[in-house]
Amino acid sequence: MTLTPSHIIEYLFCPRFTYFEYVLAIPQHEDDNYKVMRGRNLHDERLERNKDYLRRRLGRSGVPVTEKYTDQYLTNDLMRGAVDEVLGFGDGTLAPLDCKFAEYKDKVYSTYQTQLYCYAWLIETNFGQPVNRGFLVYTRSNNRVVEVPITDRHKADVMRAAEAIFDIIDRNLFPKATKHKARCVTCTYRNVCIK
Ligand code: SF4
Repeated sequence: MTLTPSHIIEYLFCPRFTYFEYVLAIPQHEDDNYKVMRGRNLHDERLERNKDYLRRRLGRSGVPVTEKYTDQYLTNDLMRGAVDEVLGFGDGTLAPLDCKFAEYKDKVYSTYQTQLYCYAWLIETNFGQPVNRGFLVYTRSNNRVVEVPITDRHKADVMRAAEAIFDIIDRNLFPKATKHKARCVTCTYRNVCIK
């Protein structure tokens, strides 16, 4: 078994969520809030992408793109994920580019950031080149491109989360609740969870 970015996003929302879903296998009620949290529609609406257009846009923002690999399905020992584009730059770094069927509202959601961090880890393990930024394209904001910095710490956090998820699943560990109590209010497991 390998994890998807959704597993990581759920774990970061609350480690106990992972326990209810994957150890006890309690189905979730997928209400609107949950769908937002999980970023469900990230890939299920196939997007019309004008790849040359995106390449020019990135180039104009001062980032010369020298290589591009589209629709990359990548795996490593712990994770798997489908990256819309892997971009290569003249300085030897790579970056994931992910298209969102969404409007840009002056802030990048943490779920989108986590997804890019997961992709960065997958790209580094598969391509053997460093990743220190990612890009989001908001198709409902005239294909606006937003750059997201990615640090070693971001990648390490995702790796740690992946290992912790396997600890919960493999050893049936009942994890601590999230410290953010506000999350319990809308959590799909609020009726079964001891808070
Ligand atoms: S109710 Fe709260 S503590 Fe329990 S799984 Fe949901 S977010 Fe975590």
